[in-house]
Amino acid sequence: MNALELTDVGFTYGPRPALDGVGFALAPGSFNALLGPNGAGKSTLIALLTRLYDLQRGEIAVFGHSLRREPRKALAQLGVVFQQSTLDLDLSVEQNLRYHAALHGLPGKLATLRIERELERQQLTPRRRDKVRLLNGGHRRRVEIARALLHEPRLLLLDEASAGLDPASRNGLNRHVRQLCREQGVTVLWTTHLLDELQPTDHLLVLQNGRLAADGAAASLGEGGVAAAFERLTA
Ligand code: ADP
Ligand code: MG
Repeated sequence: MNALELTDVGFTYGPRPALDGVGFALAPGSFNALLGPNGAGKSTLIALLTRLYDLQRGEIAVFGHSLRREPRKALAQLGVVFQQSTLDLDLSVEQNLRYHAALHGLPGKLATLRIERELERQQLTPRRRDKVRLLNGGHRRRVEIARALLHEPRLLLLDEASAGLDPASRNGLNRHVRQLCREQGVTVLWTTHLLDELQPTDHLLVLQNGRLAADGAAASLGEGGVAAAFERLTA
């Protein structure tokens, strides 16, 4: 069973479609890079996956659960880090997590256990009582990842999670998410417009003007590798 399956997905805000006939599948436990220049439709895709917007055309299934027919089951499998941060800067790291756990109806003791575990995994335990405002961008993103994983989703969506970070934090975050994927078996959809965050073994999806321009192993894109292919595809 696929972790995520899109069939002929279309969405339009105005006259020009933001997504047009997009279809692809992600294997469980895989690291997938969704690459595309600004305006390609990446965030719109995330918005459809999280049901921020209703599907206008096509089908989406998360671990076999249709987003239309079984939205609760589908959404339960999803963890999301949105492009715009949604942390409360004046609450501590732990308070942000606790608030989210309550929102998801996790009972107190279970919430405490999960929060401890995620803080540990994201190497945030020493910062747990700090207000988020005091954290650098990379650490803030880690808080969002911890939060996204509290309800133990099997598919983690990250929308340009590394945008705006300095190169060292960007690298660190990318490595960190790859490790989560490798060691915890979480399926990852990593959205970016930055080529240097890709590795040859990644499953690469290139979105351009709302259409899927490439779908396959990054290494299979031929002569000149990903960089040349991306330039060709989005020229
Ligand atoms: P990306 O995340 O790849 O930069 P988006 O999904 O944000 O792309 O945008 C895809 C297209 O949809 C763009 O042409 C953008 O201008 C348009 N768009 C995005 N959000 C809205 C909106 N709320 N209203 C109208 N058009 C939008
Ligand atoms: Mg975007």
